[in-house]
Amino acid sequence: MKNTHTCPKCNSLDLLSIPGGTTWNGRPNKVMVNSFKWLPVTRLVCGDCGYTEEWIESSDLPKLKKQFGSKDRSIGDGFV
Ligand SMILES: [Zn+2]
Repeated sequence: MKNTHTCPKCNSLDLLSIPGGTTWNGRPNKVMVNSFKWLPVTRLVCGDCGYTEEWIESSDLPKLKKQFGSKDRSIGDGFV
């Protein structure tokens, strides 16, 4: 949807882009990284069927990877 500019459900070209940080149903488009940091989440909405996708800007991905990225869970996680 982001790259094709076409709705994957109904093939509509009528897409709406709602920037990250915009209030949506009383809640802003954001994802929490930690207690002090939020990242904006851009929503793409099909203007015909309402299908919605959420995207984090590529410039923000390193911050998410740092916080939530895969770790080597085979060592020292305490689970057996
Ligand atoms: Zn659609």
